[in-house]
Amino acid sequence: MKNDILKVLVSEEEIKAMCKRLGEEISRDYEGKTPLVVGLLKGCVPFMAELTKYITIKIEMDFMVASSYHGTINTIGDVKIKKDLDSSVSGRDVIIVEDIVDTGNTLSTICELLKIRGAKSIEVATLLDKPEGRVIDFNPKYVGTLVPKEFVVGFGLDYNEYYRNLPYIGVLKPEIYERGDVDE
Ligand code: 5GP
Repeated sequence: MKNDILKVLVSEEEIKAMCKRLGEEISRDYEGKTPLVVGLLKGCVPFMAELTKYITIKIEMDFMVASSYHGTINTIGDVKIKKDLDSSVSGRDVIIVEDIVDTGNTLSTICELLKIRGAKSIEVATLLDKPEGRVIDFNPKYVGTLVPKEFVVGFGLDYNEYYRNLPYIGVLKPEIYERGDVDE
């Protein structure tokens, strides 16, 4: 799997440091509150696990599966909720945990949905932010690091469902896309 990586953009150590910084910041910002931390599956898994280790206040966790249709107009209809939350967000302070913000469509739509459902506050924590990909105005509050407009994999991010288990963020060799499969 590692042979398929052209370059490492964010190392394992850098990811750990980012999660620590963001976890500490969230703990300070939500002191005295019990936020509902909502992970967007599947990409959120490694980030959510690492980030929440550094959150020192009480939290609840829940998960959603949403699929977005890229390149279409931003309406709630563009994002399909494939697995909804188990908990109610009404009156809750919600922190959405995402792997990467690109166009901003998925998160702005989910934020809108949770607002309609009565969330008291909604913020977003994302490991990566690709601001050059934005098609709408959307600014996540907690950002691990910015990345260039390149397709990245690792630490939750996939290509054809592979590479989510890489401990770092990297860019794939061009031949991987041409071949359409991966080395074992
Ligand atoms: P947005 O609605 O912000 O365009 O989409 C966010 C979603 O698109 C992410 O959760 C992720 O699934 C996917 N995505 C955007 N950029 C990348 C990327 O560089 N690599 C991978 N693997 N997925 C990406």
